[in-house]
Amino acid sequence: MTQRVHNFSAGPAALPEAVLEQAQREMLDYAGTGMSVMEMSHRSGAFIDIASRAEQSFRQLLSIPEHYHVLFLQGGATAHFAAIPMNLLGDGSGPTKRVDYINTGAWSVKAIKEAGKYADVNVAASSEGTNFDRIPEVSKWQLSDNAAYLHLCSNETIGGVQFHEFPDSDVPVVADMSSDILSRPLNVNDFGVIYAGAQKNIGPAGLTLVVVREDLLGDVHPLLPTVLNYKSQAAADSMSNTPPTYGWYLAGLVFDWLLANGGVVGAQERNARKASKLYGAIEASNYYRAPVQSDARSQMNVPFTLANADQDKAFVTGAEARGLMNLKGHRSVGGMRASLYNAVTEASVDALIDYMQDFEREHG
Ligand SMILES: *Cc1c(COP(=O)(O)O)cnc(C)c1O
Repeated sequence: MTQRVHNFSAGPAALPEAVLEQAQREMLDYAGTGMSVMEMSHRSGAFIDIASRAEQSFRQLLSIPEHYHVLFLQGGATAHFAAIPMNLLGDGSGPTKRVDYINTGAWSVKAIKEAGKYADVNVAASSEGTNFDRIPEVSKWQLSDNAAYLHLCSNETIGGVQFHEFPDSDVPVVADMSSDILSRPLNVNDFGVIYAGAQKNIGPAGLTLVVVREDLLGDVHPLLPTVLNYKSQAAADSMSNTPPTYGWYLAGLVFDWLLANGGVVGAQERNARKASKLYGAIEASNYYRAPVQSDARSQMNVPFTLANADQDKAFVTGAEARGLMNLKGHRSVGGMRASLYNAVTEASVDALIDYMQDFEREHG
């Protein structure tokens, strides 16, 4: 028998066991083709069918309107930090274009830095001054008059800060949803572009989803690589070059698993229950502390600290002995972080809370 652990990894992260079992069953012989999906041409009928069904399921999950393209690309969110300004700011002639960015943590910082190579970036709001413990109050954002778009990170994976509502905006909103896409319902019409690396809530690393509104595809930066050109990738059904075929297939299995389990509404209910249990246990204790302000806490990534940081190591070691893995916080923040993506079960959260209470009794 295989022994599965409670996996709280921030990414690459836990996948639904039912999905892994299905992939295992289909590993050597996918649907009578006599091949693994990994061994198939991306131009074959079998793969085109896998690809289009995955897109249909994803569209169904988020009710994505017809006038949005869904692209299955590579490069991670990090490649798209650069691809977004290169795709959205025209052909580079004329003065440098202005863009607005909201800075809510480590991933926003990286996106801002990358965009600065191609655009005049206005950081319209930042919570850096309070160590990224909140979403800056929307009424105080210093938006530009003439921004080409407004960029935000819906969930800061490292700091554990999440937007629980999105701003009204006159310009297209571009959102990095790498760590909370499909965790809750979404009104896609509120966005111009949504992008997300797969390895948090969708599937294996190597696949990046981009949802882009048709009218935003126009002239691009002359140095934009073709593989990152949303217009030409849209025209080529994400196959300007070889797409990440196995990741695309596995993402399709995850989408179908979600559809069979109440869609994003079901995911949202389970995620709210898991997060409120864990934050509740932290609040109820005198030993653990959640650094993020309560109205901005992430349902996906729960950072917490111990009263005595000298005990961090003992906490992690004791956790691992119970099969509770990947709880060490990001090196830039310290403390602990439990990631509670869609595939993390309520039983795993219960096991974590039991352990935290035992540890507090012994060391608190
Ligand atoms: C993980 C993550 C990234 C970076 O993803 P890569 O695949 O490493 O490029 C960017 N933004 C957010 C919000 C993330 O969680």
